Amino acid sequence: MTDLKQFEFWFIVGSQDLYGDEVLKQVAADAKVMVEELGKSRTIPCTIVIKPVAKSPAQIRSIFEEANAARSCAGIITWMHTFSPSKMWIQGLAINHKPLLHLHTQFNRDIPWASIDMDFMNLNQSAHGDREHGYIHARMRLPRKIVVGYWEDETVRHRIAVWMRAAAARADGMTSVVVRFGDNMREVAVTEGDKVEAQIKFGWQVNGWGIGELADRFAKVDASRAEALFEEYEAAYELAPSTKADDRPAVLEQAKIEIALLDILSAEGAGAFTTTFQDLHGLPQLPGLACQRLMEKGYGFGAEGDWKQSMLLRSAKVMATGLPGGVSFMEDYTYHFEPGRRVALGAHMLEVCPTIADEKPRLEVHPLGIGGKAAPARLVFDAAPGPAVLATLIDLGDRFRMIVNEIKTVEIVDAMPRLPVARALWDPYPNLPEAAEAWILAGGTHHSVYASALTTEYFRDWAEMSGIEFVLIDRDTKPTRLADELRWGEAYWSKR
Ligand code: MN
Repeated sequence: MTDLKQFEFWFIVGSQDLYGDEVLKQVAADAKVMVEELGKSRTIPCTIVIKPVAKSPAQIRSIFEEANAARSCAGIITWMHTFSPSKMWIQGLAINHKPLLHLHTQFNRDIPWASIDMDFMNLNQSAHGDREHGYIHARMRLPRKIVVGYWEDETVRHRIAVWMRAAAARADGMTSVVVRFGDNMREVAVTEGDKVEAQIKFGWQVNGWGIGELADRFAKVDASRAEALFEEYEAAYELAPSTKADDRPAVLEQAKIEIALLDILSAEGAGAFTTTFQDLHGLPQLPGLACQRLMEKGYGFGAEGDWKQSMLLRSAKVMATGLPGGVSFMEDYTYHFEPGRRVALGAHMLEVCPTIADEKPRLEVHPLGIGGKAAPARLVFDAAPGPAVLATLIDLGDRFRMIVNEIKTVEIVDAMPRLPVARALWDPYPNLPEAAEAWILAGGTHHSVYASALTTEYFRDWAEMSGIEFVLIDRDTKPTRLADELRWGEAYWSKR
């Protein structure tokens, strides 16, 4: 589990020397109160660090220089308590590499009708100071999030928190590795992509390891470590009598795969990994339970070598740290087109994360009709009903595009006794035919990140700070309109 408090957000309050010492002291004091109170809020997941009141071009530039160099700094929050001429900010903003949030708030909630005078107006003028500040962001075409409202309001704090979580995920990606065991599934297009561009855009180091290294480590795992893990499984999941008897050796094999995987990921400082069922040489089973367990621990995972979804899943895991609900690798499988009840069934061969489960997962061993290996152990469960989003990342050749579809996961009322895999059943917005048309129009993959812990806003913020295209499919989406928007987007993105 990621500790979100390790991520610092530097709070810069803008002003200028014109106001005199008294006003500047008050600006600093008000900002200190604001930062302390935000820091105490349970909604705010990360650490806010107040910086000296910004008053000159040289000072502003030096704050951004320090921020760029500080590994702990995951983002910058700016707020203009008074008027801070924006030409002073150009040199600093021009070199800034950290995600930017423009907080448009004011220290007082209400206008003090009876006592208001020009001194009050001069001290509390965010309404025009932040417009000057916003102009220079717009003029410089800076990616940023603007949050407007009174700083003690929970909705305002929530929007700041969403952005902080996205920025924390981005900072996490800057130092992380995707370990690819084997290559992508042969002949598949959508799981391919430009790994160099991914490192430039997201920081992720996407590198390959031979499956032999995992197989070697698997073969050397001490039996007692696997036995200890079996006990952990018994405490966490439902095990049928057969799982504890005849199928026990298969579960122990999967436990050894989990241990070998975790050892390698820890040694490499990795945040995510991929496997492919076409390259399991030296492993007895497809890693099923092992991948589910590692996702549960917070690692990103992509099947068939899908490093993009693996990286995105890890980012979503960091964003969702400590939130109710879960985040999982997911795949669109099959549809139910009954009039009045059109839904999509999502699953994978095995690899769905138990954080999205509605019930205590069952640990079972069954044959797999693909891959030609021994029957793999896996967790079986239904996803919890409720609102969720599907997010995916594709490579269009000249850029990355993120596509998000808002969905409503529904209860699975019909038993599927011959389908012993983890699964989710959902009704996508605006409806299944139009959602699928829009998704396919945008080039969306069959693989995605399923998140009941997150909303669209998290992914939008992450895409904005990563400088990539973002396409939303929600209750207002019309495929014909989206087709036009995608064409307009070509003009915008081809200039970048
Ligand atoms: Mn797949």
